[in-house]
Amino acid sequence: MRTTVGIIGAGPSGLLLARLLHRAGIDCVVLESRDRAYAEQRQRAGILEQGTVDALRACGAGARLDREGLIHHGIELRFEGRRHRIDFPTATGGRSVAVYAQTELVKDLIALQLGENGEAGPPLLFGAEALAVEKPDSAAPEIRFRHEGRERTLVCQVVAGCDGFHGIARRAVPAERVRTFERTYPYSWLGVLADVPPSCEELIYARHQRGFALHSMRSPHVSRLYLQVDNGTDPAEWSHERIWDELSVRLGADGARPLERGPISAVSVTPMRSFVQEPMRHGSLFLAGDAAHIVPPTGAKGLNLAVSDVLTLARALVQHHRTGSTELLDGYSETCLRRVWQAERFSFFMTDTLHPRPDQSPFEDRLQVAQLDRIATSATASAELAENYVGLPLS
Ligand SMILES: Cc1cc2nc3c(=O)[nH]c(=O)nc-3n(C[C@H](O)[C@H](O)[C@H](O)COP(=O)(O)OP(=O)(O)OC[C@H]3O[C@@H](n4cnc5c(N)ncnc54)[C@H](O)[C@@H]3O)c2cc1C
Repeated sequence: MRTTVGIIGAGPSGLLLARLLHRAGIDCVVLESRDRAYAEQRQRAGILEQGTVDALRACGAGARLDREGLIHHGIELRFEGRRHRIDFPTATGGRSVAVYAQTELVKDLIALQLGENGEAGPPLLFGAEALAVEKPDSAAPEIRFRHEGRERTLVCQVVAGCDGFHGIARRAVPAERVRTFERTYPYSWLGVLADVPPSCEELIYARHQRGFALHSMRSPHVSRLYLQVDNGTDPAEWSHERIWDELSVRLGADGARPLERGPISAVSVTPMRSFVQEPMRHGSLFLAGDAAHIVPPTGAKGLNLAVSDVLTLARALVQHHRTGSTELLDGYSETCLRRVWQAERFSFFMTDTLHPRPDQSPFEDRLQVAQLDRIATSATASAELAENYVGLPLS
C-alpha cells in the first residue's frame, strides 16, 4: 500500500488530520488498532476551547456540536466552604468554551470519514495495529502493521504519529535524538459517569481538605464527576453510595445546590501525569497529540492540544503540497512546543493548586488556599486563569 500521509491512530488527532488533508486534496490512510465501537466509546475529554470549536466548524465537523454542545461562559471555584465564579467573556474579551464529549466528537469524525453523511473521506482501517515505523528519517518512511491476521506495509511520504501516549510512533525516534520531560503526581482521579442531570450550570472545581473534586457534565442528562484518590486505588473499593457521599462533602459550600444522585454507569481510575517528548519531528515522522505530550486533565487541555498540533501539521503539509516549501514543516516542532509548554504550565498550576498532596504540610495547605483567594479577589489573577482555560490564541 502507498499513500502520501500515513496516519497512525483514529483518536481526535488522527481523525481531524485526515479530514483536514482530505479537504486539501492530500491523500492519506488512517490505521487504528481498535475496533470502531471501542474508539467511539472511550470516555475521556469533554471541554472544547473556542479555537477547537472553530476548527471543527471550519472543516465541516461542527453541525452536531452546534446543535448539542453546551456553551459555558464560566467555571466555579470552591474552597474553604466558599464559592467563586470566574466569568470567561468578561475576563477574555468574549471567549467561552463548549461542553461536548470526546466520544461524540470521535463519532462525528468517523461518520464523516466513512461517508455516512455524504462523500467518503480517506481510507480508515479499524483493527489495523501499527507495529513499527521503519526508515522514519528517509523520504519514504514505512509503517509496518497487522490487519486481518496479515502483516502489511504502508509506504508513505510522511508518517503522522497520532497514536496516543501508549502508541508506537514515539519509539521510532532514536533515543539519542530525543529529550523527555516527565512528572508523576502522588494522586489519581476516580472518574464517574452518572445518568443524572448535572447539579450545576457550569463546571465546579473544588479544593477540599479531604481532596479535590470536579463536577463536570457531558450533556443535560449525563454528569461526569471526579474525586482525587490515592495512587493505586481499586475502583471496587468505592461503592456508589461512598462515591456520592464523598462528592457531596467535597463539593459542599455555603448556599450551594445539593448534589443530585443517580445511577452510575462507569467508574474508572486515572493516574495523573505530565509528559513531553522533544522534538515532535524526526525526519518524515511527525508526532501529534498525546503521542508527544500529555497533561493532567485538571486544565482540560489534552484534546485541545491534540487539535492545535494537527492544525499546525495540516497547514505545513498543505504548504508543502502546494508550493514545495518546507518552511512550516521545518518549524512544526518548535511552533507546537511553544503552545504545549504553556498548556503544561497551566495544567500543572491547576493541578498543584487544587489537590492537597498526601504528604502536604499545613504551610502548603495555607499557600493553596491563599492562591485560590488571590484568584477570587483579583481581576488580574482571575483573568490569567480564564485566558488559559478558554485557550491561548492559535499561532
Ligand atoms: C479521564 C480523562 C479526562 C480527560 N479530560 C480532558 C478534557 O476535559 N479536556 C481535554 O482537552 N482533554 C482531556 N483529556 C485528554 C484527551 O482525552 C486526550 O488528550 C486526547 O484523547 C488525545 O487525542 P489523541 O488523538 O492524540 O490520542 P488518543 O485519543 O489516545 O488516540 C490515539 C489512537 O491511536 C490508537 N492507537 C494506539 N496505538 C496504536 C497502534 N500501534 N496502531 C494503530 N492505532 C493505535 C488508539 O487506539 C487511539 O484510538 C482527558 C483524558 C482522560 C484520560
